[in-house]
Amino acid sequence: MRPLGTFPLRGVVPYITAWSSETEQHGTLVVRRGRLSYADEHPLDRDRFGILWRRLGVSPGVGKPEYGRVHGLRQRRTMLRVLCQVCGGPADRTCDGVLWLMGRAEYEREPWPAPIESPHPPVCLNCTVQAVRLCPHLRHHYIAVRARRFHLSGVHGALHVAGFPEPRVIDTETLALDDTRTAWLRAGQLIMRLTDYRVVDLHADSERVGPGN
Ligand SMILES: [Zn+2]
Repeated sequence: MRPLGTFPLRGVVPYITAWSSETEQHGTLVVRRGRLSYADEHPLDRDRFGILWRRLGVSPGVGKPEYGRVHGLRQRRTMLRVLCQVCGGPADRTCDGVLWLMGRAEYEREPWPAPIESPHPPVCLNCTVQAVRLCPHLRHHYIAVRARRFHLSGVHGALHVAGFPEPRVIDTETLALDDTRTAWLRAGQLIMRLTDYRVVDLHADSERVGPGN
């Protein structure tokens, strides 16, 4: 199930949805100090873990929204800062933890208490309740969970090997952050691991959001 933030909602384009103007800027790849690098690398090309990222244009609002396509750099920002994937504001947090929506089908393959590994950023209560009111069928496709303990666990992207004239892609992989092969990855999304969580009833939570908010 794709993230909530890639659906058209309330006539507002969600925060992590990519726009047609936000194309990939390829850049020349080289091998430097035993790892994949850009020939003209800038410090912003790597994250805090030292992993190289895809270069993407950042111009939300320009062109057309491409629903279904996640903007990797905004996805990364929401994961690092625990922000709502729909509005970009703070994710909802109560004493029961931070709110997440997960695809029901993915969850049911390995339900509670198995940890959840997901590229879906968290959500705020207002966006979630509004989305479900707008599209009640979403309730059948998602489960809501609140997580007290979670951490960044992995990264998804294109795995490369050395080659001539440039390193080349061999596969698309999700790797643990401490996997040495991340030196050969060009990353596209971060993965969060939820270890202490419980499934919650959105209907009860929605009482906190007044009608028409
Ligand atoms: Zn929100």
